[in-house]
Amino acid sequence: MSSLPEETVITKTKIEPALDLQEELPIQLIFEDKKFNTEVTQYLTNTISKRESLTNNNYHVISVFGSQSSGKSTLLNTLFHTNFDTMDAQVKRQQTTKGIWLGHSKSINCSENDYYHYSNDANNLENPADIYVLDVEGSDGAERGEDQEFERKAALFALAVSEVLIINMWEQQVGLYQGNNMGLLKTVFEVNLSLFGKSGTTLTGDKHKILLLFIIRDHIGVTPLESLQESIENELDKMWNTLSKPEGYEDTTFHDFFDVKFKGLAHKILQNDKFIEGVKNLGDQVINKPTASNSLFKPEYHYNLPLEGWALYSENCWNTIENSVELDLPTQQILVAKFKTKEFADASFNEFTVTFNNGEWGYDHDPTSIAETLSNIKNVALEYYDKLASRYHKPVYQEERDILLTNIKQIYEEYLTGYTNAISSVLLNEFDTLLPLSSKKKSFTERSASAKSQILTKFDAKLQPFQKSGLVESVDKYIDTFTKVLDEKIEAERLKEFQNLFKKFEKNISRKMTENIDILLSDASPDFWDKLLTYFTKINKDFMMNFEVNRSSIGEGITDAGAPVYDFNLGFSNTENEQKYQMFLKASWSIFSDVIKKNLTVGKLPSVLEGVFEKKFLYDENDSPKFFTNVSTIDAEAEEGKDYANKMLDVFSIAKTTDDDSEIIPPVQLADDDEEEEEEEDEYKKDNGLFERKSFAHILNETEKERVRIELKKKIQIVILQTKRSVLTNSTK
Ligand code: GDP
Ligand code: MG
Repeated sequence: MSSLPEETVITKTKIEPALDLQEELPIQLIFEDKKFNTEVTQYLTNTISKRESLTNNNYHVISVFGSQSSGKSTLLNTLFHTNFDTMDAQVKRQQTTKGIWLGHSKSINCSENDYYHYSNDANNLENPADIYVLDVEGSDGAERGEDQEFERKAALFALAVSEVLIINMWEQQVGLYQGNNMGLLKTVFEVNLSLFGKSGTTLTGDKHKILLLFIIRDHIGVTPLESLQESIENELDKMWNTLSKPEGYEDTTFHDFFDVKFKGLAHKILQNDKFIEGVKNLGDQVINKPTASNSLFKPEYHYNLPLEGWALYSENCWNTIENSVELDLPTQQILVAKFKTKEFADASFNEFTVTFNNGEWGYDHDPTSIAETLSNIKNVALEYYDKLASRYHKPVYQEERDILLTNIKQIYEEYLTGYTNAISSVLLNEFDTLLPLSSKKKSFTERSASAKSQILTKFDAKLQPFQKSGLVESVDKYIDTFTKVLDEKIEAERLKEFQNLFKKFEKNISRKMTENIDILLSDASPDFWDKLLTYFTKINKDFMMNFEVNRSSIGEGITDAGAPVYDFNLGFSNTENEQKYQMFLKASWSIFSDVIKKNLTVGKLPSVLEGVFEKKFLYDENDSPKFFTNVSTIDAEAEEGKDYANKMLDVFSIAKTTDDDSEIIPPVQLADDDEEEEEEEDEYKKDNGLFERKSFAHILNETEKERVRIELKKKIQIVILQTKRSVLTNSTK
């Protein structure tokens, strides 16, 4: 041996399990008092290979079933290098304690290199999936009969949580129905039928199945494996036909729910080499990828749960088995999925909220970059959730994902509401400055339309990135709201412009009419009303000329076919323009009425008429002062002036035009001074509308005229007296 080169020695050396394997002891998953070990997650965390994590789906669970002391633990330890207790004294450690034990495999006995060691390299993709093994430790033979309940529960549990169930039996037990195994299996299958019937599909969409791996121990080969296999399969079929099936499952076959494999193993003590060879062959099937044809594992055996979910699931399964007769394990899987996905979604949302709250999303930042960042944060949250939760029951995972997404979108909608409010107020201010600044030459309609479109374009540009990046379904509602606000603003602005125009008009008419009546009164003539009316018509026309439009250009809608048509350039409809025109008309006639009623009063008229008298009496046709020489003729000379003044009093008392001697009647009902009066009175006024309009012309009644006459007479007498006095004074000089 010593002459051989060193490398040869190494390759020939059997690789034994690594030292630390000895330290990785199994734990008791179910205690003797039937309590579930709550530290199982910690155990899984400690044992799982470096490249995997509890959130991964890459693991297998295998368990064993069979008579006491049938060499189960021995087989598992040989195959998986677990450290379950066996009957053999030298290995005996903590066991003989009844319960279900859980061990993790760190290396697998196989033909190549003797052992497959899991690499500690986290990046090693060649490692097969982690394998967790369940070993059932029942009571000793003598007590066995008394504790069938535990064995049945353990078997149910093994079926509910593992992908492969090894059924360990002696060759002699085959065909012996009473040999305990098959009888127990029947009961277990019966209870499980509802479970597997209901379990539906796996993650891959296949029907969920379990592999029953029958291992015939101490198989000498006198009876070939094939005939043992045949009789077991016959027994299974027979058993399936006789067991009671729930509704809807009457026609199912055993193979709808189970795959079956057989393996003979030689006597461990008598034919150790052959036994080991058989175990290595099993090991080869274990380390093969699940997709390989001779792999022990298939995707449809797997549960829809990451490893941490499996821990919670098996605990729920055990509690259900322990506490209830009715087993509904698929519901348990969904419950676990609900619990875990909610946990992940909450964690993801919390993380999201923290990131969001710490961010800077002011409206003065570039919206495209805000939208991108927010979109990234959303994606990070979803990816985090997907990574952890996607391996759970698909519909539950999806449902929780939708909730998460809704919550995130809710935050974004709230943010966007604040964002648009801020943008809105900035842009509304801008609109305020933009509207009056836009060229004054343009009409209000044009100015407001242009300002509105400029502002809306800006608003749209600020918001579109949020829709483009998918943060919200649509920003239309924000744009609609803002458009409405703008329209209201424009409407208010339009009314303001109209008010200004209206006031300007009133001021203009009022000033001009006041001036004009002064002039006309200072040189009153019988055609006073013709002149005043002509002037009034002219100034109205001058003002309205700016707004007169071609009738054909505005189409239908105006009632009076002959009258001019106006457009005040404020974007009013035809009807509105007509209404506004009526307002102007009413206002100007009211001013007309006010002006005459203010100037032609009992108080003022005597002085006005005194002027009329003086003009006739003191001046000649050429407006030159008359020269009086004889006092005795003065009275006679004053008569003409008196007559004229009285004639003018008649003229002023009623507004009539001279050509047809008809009263001036305003074309509109004039505004009432007390519009807020009682309805009844309004009704009365409406009924008497004609009178109201006619009363425009009636300036003084007979009594008032009489009072004016008396006053006038006094004034005239004084003028005459003064004239006489001045003649006397001059003649005596
Ligand atoms: P378990 O109770 O089913 O877990 O059985 P153990 O693995 O503890 O083994 C019970 C006894 O059977 C031990 O003394 C083993 O040495 C022995 N034993 C182990 N493997 C075999 C085997 O292949 N054939 C026989 N006849 N005995 C075995
Ligand atoms: Mg054992």
